[in-house]
Amino acid sequence: MSSVLIIEDEKAISSFLKVILENKGYRITITETARDGLSVLSTMPDIIILDLGLPDRDGMEIIPEIREWSQIPIIIVSARGREKDKVMALDIGADDYLTKPFGAEELLARMRVALRHSNRFKNTVGEESAHYVNGGLSIDYVARRVFIDDREIHLTPLEYRLLTVLSQHTGKVLTHQFLLKEVWGVKYISQNHYVRVFMANLRNKIEKDPAYPQYLLTEQGIGYRLIDFIEE
Ligand code: CA
Repeated sequence: MSSVLIIEDEKAISSFLKVILENKGYRITITETARDGLSVLSTMPDIIILDLGLPDRDGMEIIPEIREWSQIPIIIVSARGREKDKVMALDIGADDYLTKPFGAEELLARMRVALRHSNRFKNTVGEESAHYVNGGLSIDYVARRVFIDDREIHLTPLEYRLLTVLSQHTGKVLTHQFLLKEVWGVKYISQNHYVRVFMANLRNKIEKDPAYPQYLLTEQGIGYRLIDFIEE
């Protein structure tokens, strides 16, 4: 079963996490400071739950330190609900962000998505799947063809690129900056409107009702998430 490192100084939250996670069979370690959390990292947990307001350091600071050498999924749980905090955490390498208070089911779902990603990451060396299926959406990466409910959808090269980047991170919120960098390139990271325009086009082609998207969800002020139908 997966091991979870919790870095959280608020006892009410860490005991709540302990109960729900142990109940699901996760092995957990709780540390209350950034320093202790980092020192436990050598045990290689499968996933990290990180608070930002820690007594010794800001949790935000330690994300890049972890990312220098490890792709362990990091889920932020924080009282800071501002969009700019979420965007920053995701841009410097966090996998997901939950604002306190959050529900147990939501945390568990985000953890499963993050863990599945990291497993995919581990397993994909040389054997990446050529075919993607998620709900009614399927992509043949080799033939570069996209289908919704077995009906072929014709995308422009940039729409296709945007969809494949989202599909490679299914279930995870991707920031505007990340999408701009991956789809258009680093020179374009200030062109937020590109993402909006192309996302609108993609929705028109993929969604039954683009005003109420089932696949391509907006995370207000942060970015977009391609729904993971295994989770929903
Ligand atoms: Ca705290």
